[in-house]
Amino acid sequence: MIELRGVSRAYPTPQGEFFALAALDLRAAPGELLAVVGSSGSGKSTLIHLIAGIDRPTAGTIRVAGADVAALGESALAAWRGTTVGIVFQSFQLLPTLTTLENVILPIDFCRTLPADKARARGLALLDRVGIADQAHKLPSALSGGQQQRAAIARAFANDPPVIVADEPTGNLDSRTAAAVLELLAGLARDGKTVVLVTHERELGRIADRVITLADGRLVDDARQTRQVAHG
Ligand code: ADP
Ligand code: MG
Repeated sequence: MIELRGVSRAYPTPQGEFFALAALDLRAAPGELLAVVGSSGSGKSTLIHLIAGIDRPTAGTIRVAGADVAALGESALAAWRGTTVGIVFQSFQLLPTLTTLENVILPIDFCRTLPADKARARGLALLDRVGIADQAHKLPSALSGGQQQRAAIARAFANDPPVIVADEPTGNLDSRTAAAVLELLAGLARDGKTVVLVTHERELGRIADRVITLADGRLVDDARQTRQVAHG
């Protein structure tokens, strides 16, 4: 589902090239929840941006759901991203002038994957799944942080993408809300999605199949573990 080979992302600096990521090889399968940990500046966000096609590698190849991401032009990339990768950010990134429901169905409108009435019905079903159907017609500013992140997760899977990436999605949430958001992402993996999750959460080991550790742009650890499902 996700395959990185020899992937580097270098930035030119006065002292020479700086590698945010260096010669990374990584594969993740459908149904796998892959957690990415590492200290600040280790390359976690860079990895997420490369998988989502928001950034391009300076070396190596990235295949996601059969596409050679770095080879796609801008418009093909936008269309590909809209149906293939759902993205969840630490700061939610909901549009402030749209209701929660309108935010959630934005990817459907953008990719025209469903007619308007069906999009609305799907949006409401997605909000129900993340537990905030009652917030559908409010603006994001009227929602709590946890509710906004639930809406952002609903938006990320609006087009039923096979891959979900999340960059510190619990960074702005209290620990109980964070646990609920992580459980939602774990549920997506159980449904067969490939989920790549950047996090600092220490309890993460309980939901992730696999934890990779980055340090200075390099993969320094790749540990598989048994997922303990507390409740379905
Ligand atoms: P993390 O998410 O693990 O904190 P990042 O992937 O954001 O780390 O960044 C990895 C490294 O790349 C950091 O040292 C950061 O300063 C550097 N970096 C990120 N973006 C740029 C950029 N546009 N120009 C130069 N260096 C960058
Ligand atoms: Mg980061």
